[in-house]
Amino acid sequence: MKIKEYRTQFIQELTPIYDAGEAESFFYLILEEKNQLKRIDLALHPDLVFSEGEIVIWNSILEQLKKEIPIQYLLGKTSFYGLDFEVNENVLIPRPETEELVEWIIESQKSKVKSQNIRILDIGTGSGCIAISLAKNLSNAQVFAIDVSKNALATSQKNAENNSVNVTFIHQNILETEDLQQQFDIIVSNPPYVRNLEKDEIKKNVLDNEPHLALFVADDDALIFYKKIAELAQQHLSENGQLFFEINQYLGKEMIDLLEKMNFKIIELRKDIYGNDRMLSCHCEER
Ligand code: GLN
Repeated sequence: MKIKEYRTQFIQELTPIYDAGEAESFFYLILEEKNQLKRIDLALHPDLVFSEGEIVIWNSILEQLKKEIPIQYLLGKTSFYGLDFEVNENVLIPRPETEELVEWIIESQKSKVKSQNIRILDIGTGSGCIAISLAKNLSNAQVFAIDVSKNALATSQKNAENNSVNVTFIHQNILETEDLQQQFDIIVSNPPYVRNLEKDEIKKNVLDNEPHLALFVADDDALIFYKKIAELAQQHLSENGQLFFEINQYLGKEMIDLLEKMNFKIIELRKDIYGNDRMLSCHCEER
C-alpha cells in the first residue's frame, strides 16, 4: 500500500478523537520513529509503499491511539527543553509548563558568577526532565534528584545517561525525610498537586494512562508536599538559595500564604503559557 494512501486512512480514522492537524502530526512522528522517513521523503518519493509487516505495526499503533494512549508512551519518548527523554507508564509525560519552570531557573542563574559551583536538588524527579535539563544547561551545577518510585528512577537514570549528564539519583520518600544531609543553592519540585475534586478536569488520556502517584495528592491536601519541602528548605537552602515550585493553578494564593507564614520571601508567582498561575519562586528571609 502506498504510504500516502495509508496516511489519508490513518488521519481519517483518528479525526473523531483528534483534530486533523494533530492526527497528521502523529503520522509524521511515527513515520520518523518507526520507518526513519520524514515528511520531505514522502513529498519527494510519492510512490513509497508500506510492506504488509509495516502495516501490521502501523495498525496496532493506530488502535492504541484510538484508545487515547498518549503518543509519547507509544513512541517511548518525548522531547523536553530540546532534549530527548524516554518515557513510560512509570513517569509523567513532561509538560510544556515545566519547560517554562526550567527556563526560569536557568534565567535566574544568568547574572550569577559561573565560576562558583552550585548544588541543585530536584524533588520528585520522575522522568528526570527538570534535573537533566538543568544539568545540561548549567555547567557549574552539581545536580541531585529524589523520587519515591524506583521505576521512575530507573527511567530518569537512563535519561541522564542518554543525555550525557551527571545527576545523583536518590530513592527516597520526601514526606518521610527528616534531613537532607547537605545544603542546596536551588531546590526545585513539581510534586503531585491535583486534588480529587479536580479529577473531572483531567483529560481522559491522562487519567487512564499516566501514573496517579505523580499526579494526585491524598485527602485533597494539595499543599502537603510543598509544606514538607519548605520545612526542609528552611534547614537546607544555602544563603541566597532559591526555591522553585510548579504549583496547582488554583492555589497560588494559598501557596503564597503558606510560604510567607514559614518566613519565606516570595520572589514571583508566574503564569504559564495558558495564563494559569503555575510557578513560584521564593527564598528564606533574614539570612
Ligand atoms: N500539570 C499536570 C497535569 O495537568 C499535573 C502535574 C503534577 O501533578 N505535578 O496533568
